[in-house]
Amino acid sequence: MAKIRVTIWNENVHETADSAFGAYIRTFYPNGIHNALKEELASDDLEITAVSLDMPNQGITDELLANTDVLVWWGHCAHAKVEDALVEKIHTRVLEGMGLIVLHSGHYSKIFRRLTGTSNSLRWRECGEKELVWVVDKQHPITRDVPDYVEVPNTEMYGEPFGIPNDAHVVFISWYEGGNVFRSGFTLTRGAGKIFYFSPGHETFPIYHNPGIVKIIGNAVRWANPELPPQQTTCWNRDPAPETVRTENPIDKIDTAALHESK
Ligand code: ZN
Repeated sequence: MAKIRVTIWNENVHETADSAFGAYIRTFYPNGIHNALKEELASDDLEITAVSLDMPNQGITDELLANTDVLVWWGHCAHAKVEDALVEKIHTRVLEGMGLIVLHSGHYSKIFRRLTGTSNSLRWRECGEKELVWVVDKQHPITRDVPDYVEVPNTEMYGEPFGIPNDAHVVFISWYEGGNVFRSGFTLTRGAGKIFYFSPGHETFPIYHNPGIVKIIGNAVRWANPELPPQQTTCWNRDPAPETVRTENPIDKIDTAALHESK
């Protein structure tokens, strides 16, 4: 079977910061979250490319995007730096069928807000509290071989209300030591593309080295892999009728071609 071509994109800003927290983050993500995830997810059925915002074409060339089955996205403070033209291209690829996994603070990324059409706003608190990520849908492929809950010893709290669309299918709900709860993992489809949002992954804790969290992301990548070749996202122009149309066209004498031209 062909390998799933996975591209992990990361803004890679916090991990490269010349500061005390930057140095601290580098103790567990020395080469950035994208490369840490690449190593953790490594498997014979995956062909993983790790890229970052500071690379040419902001890490995603047209060729790489066309050859990506599933895109994993981690962004936080540099959402606004991602060029609208790139967001447009990624949006089209998702509608064509490319899978998309949006992690943690990616809830506010340009691409995810465009795809959800909602605010994606939430409540948050950073005090190193414990999180239990509970499985809600035990039948879902993303929860395969995942225990009833995954414990994250130290996390950033993301709490309800979470401004996500009503067609979100909730797969995980998190409980936090401080008393909040959160729909921490949910799926969507947009066009032919399968999308999974997963909240654990705050940059100041080594959450992407937690085996339970890595298991879930790996399952999500395999679930989001498109089963069909890229689907058409534009209209079929003057599609010929499969049967003979016998009704006389009342505007047969008028050329309507100009009506269908965009200006
Ligand atoms: Zn965070």
